[in-house]
Amino acid sequence: MSIDRYAKQRIFLGREADEGLRSKRVAVLGLGALGSVIAPWLARAGVGHLTLIDRDLVEQSNLQRQLLYGESDLGRPKAEVAAERLREANSSIDLTPVVADLTSGNARELLSGFDLICDGTDNFEARFLINDVAILTGTPWIYAGAIGGEGVIWPLHPPHTPCLRCLIEEPPAGGDVDTCDSAGVLGPAVGVIASWAALEALKMLTGKAPHTDLVRFDFWHDERQFLKPPRARCRFCTEKVTEFLDARWTLKASALCGLEGVQIRVNPPGKLDLTALKARLETRTRSPWKQVGMMLKGHEGPDEITLFADGRALVHGPMTPERARSWYTEVVGC
Ligand SMILES: [Zn+2]
Repeated sequence: MSIDRYAKQRIFLGREADEGLRSKRVAVLGLGALGSVIAPWLARAGVGHLTLIDRDLVEQSNLQRQLLYGESDLGRPKAEVAAERLREANSSIDLTPVVADLTSGNARELLSGFDLICDGTDNFEARFLINDVAILTGTPWIYAGAIGGEGVIWPLHPPHTPCLRCLIEEPPAGGDVDTCDSAGVLGPAVGVIASWAALEALKMLTGKAPHTDLVRFDFWHDERQFLKPPRARCRFCTEKVTEFLDARWTLKASALCGLEGVQIRVNPPGKLDLTALKARLETRTRSPWKQVGMMLKGHEGPDEITLFADGRALVHGPMTPERARSWYTEVVGC
C-alpha cells in the first residue's frame, strides 16, 4: 500500500512536511553521476513532479559512477532511461524526461515553473544559465560539483542569499578548470556530494532553511572547508542582469573533451524533421541512416554522426570542429 511508502520519512519530517512534498516540482538538470543520485532520492521521497533534463546518451565510460544506468542502456538518452528507472522506484509521482541541450535560447522555458532546480551538470556554462533563471524567477537552486575525490555544494536562493556570480563573476576559462577528463572522478565522492545535495533539497522543499556555507570536501585527502558566503552582493543579482540568458549565438562546434569527436549545438534549439533528413542523408552518403526515437544515426565517411531532433549533433571520428561546422551547415542548414 502506498500509504506506508513514506512512513519512515514521515516519522522524521512530520506529516505536514512529508505530504507537502507531493505538491512540489523539481527540475534535475544533468543526469550524470550527480543527477543519478539526486533524482532517485527525490523520487523515492515522493517529490510530486520531477523534470529530468539531459542531452546525452549513455556511454560505456559513464557506468563506473552513473548509478541509474546499466549495460543494456548504452546508446539510449539518459533522460529517458532515468525516467524509466525512477518510475519503477515510484510510480505515483509525475516524471517528465526532457532530452535537450540547455542554451540561452531555451533555459528560461526549460527551467521555469519549479520550486527548486538541482544542478547535476558538469559545466559552468549551464550553471551560469541556471543562476540567471534563478535571479529572474526567484527559484532556489543547489550548486553541486565533483571532480577527482572532492566536491562542492552550495544551496542558493537569490535575493535571499548570494548568487553564484557573487562568488565567481565569470565562468572560468576552459583551460582553467579540471574536468572529469583531465582529473578523473571517483564514483563515491560524487555520490556523497549528490546525496548531500538531495538532503538540502528536502530541507528547502519542506520549508527548513538550508545550510548557508559553500561546503568543499576533499574526501581523498580528508580535508573539509566551510566557506562563509560573500557578504557583498553582485550587481547581477541586485539589478537582475541576466547576461547569460541574454547571450545570442546560433551555432557552436567544439571538440568533445577526452573523446575523438565534435559536438555541434544550435541556439535556440530547433526542431529537425528527422524523416526528411534521413532521406536526404541516405542519398548523400549512399548508406542507411537509422532513426531511433528523437535521434538519427549514420555515417559520413569514417565519421559516425548522431543528429538529435533539437538540432544538436555528435560526430565521432576524425572530423575537425571547423569541418563539422561546415558539414552541418551544408546538410542540415542553419
Ligand atoms: Zn549575485
